[in-house]
Amino acid sequence: MNSKALVLFSGGQDSATCLAWALERYAHVETIAFNYGQRHAVELQCRLEMMAQLRSGFPAWAERLGPDHLLDLSVLGQISDTALTQDQAITMQANGLPNTFVPGRNLLFFNFAAAVAYRRGLQVLVGGMCETDYSGYPDCRDNTLKALQVALSLGLDSPMVIETPLMWVDKAGTWALAQSLGGWPLMDLIIEHTHTCYLGDRSTRHAWGYGCGQCPACDLRRTGFETFTGQAPQP
Ligand code: ZN
Repeated sequence: MNSKALVLFSGGQDSATCLAWALERYAHVETIAFNYGQRHAVELQCRLEMMAQLRSGFPAWAERLGPDHLLDLSVLGQISDTALTQDQAITMQANGLPNTFVPGRNLLFFNFAAAVAYRRGLQVLVGGMCETDYSGYPDCRDNTLKALQVALSLGLDSPMVIETPLMWVDKAGTWALAQSLGGWPLMDLIIEHTHTCYLGDRSTRHAWGYGCGQCPACDLRRTGFETFTGQAPQP
């Protein structure tokens, strides 16, 4: 509880749940996000609204929620040619990964986050990476992040812990975790203010939130929500 954490908060469902998890667990929590020319840049607007709503709706968490950091990583758009940063259809590549994969994206994110954390005196980095029902991105793997934790701690000559509370949790479990942390008030905020859709579509509001309803990210979010609400009592 005395540790201070930096949450990689993109404005999506997973990282919003991680933010709530960190606010419940650490004495001081700061947030960081990266602008890299993502097609779903709308999530960067969602995250500001989500933080404002957390501050007004959860006073105990508001006391612990510190500054937000937004870093410009537009260089990532220059070195990747993927369906996340370019206007092209989401398909499977020959290597078995969807073409939404930005090579090494999370490695870069954690390096920059660690530099900010070091400067700010924060000892824990929290990310929403998950191996359970993820798209196969190798930089989301538990072993990748454990290796990175060692490299960062050595390279900074200061212990830097990487926490990934969703690593072994599926999408239904992520909804259940949010419900256990903040009840339906937090669920409502996540449904209304977080963004998951790869295409940045917020024109249609579904029971599980906004999105095109078709892309892999929407599909995971919807399926997880339907599984969770099939098990949990409604408000
Ligand atoms: Zn979508």
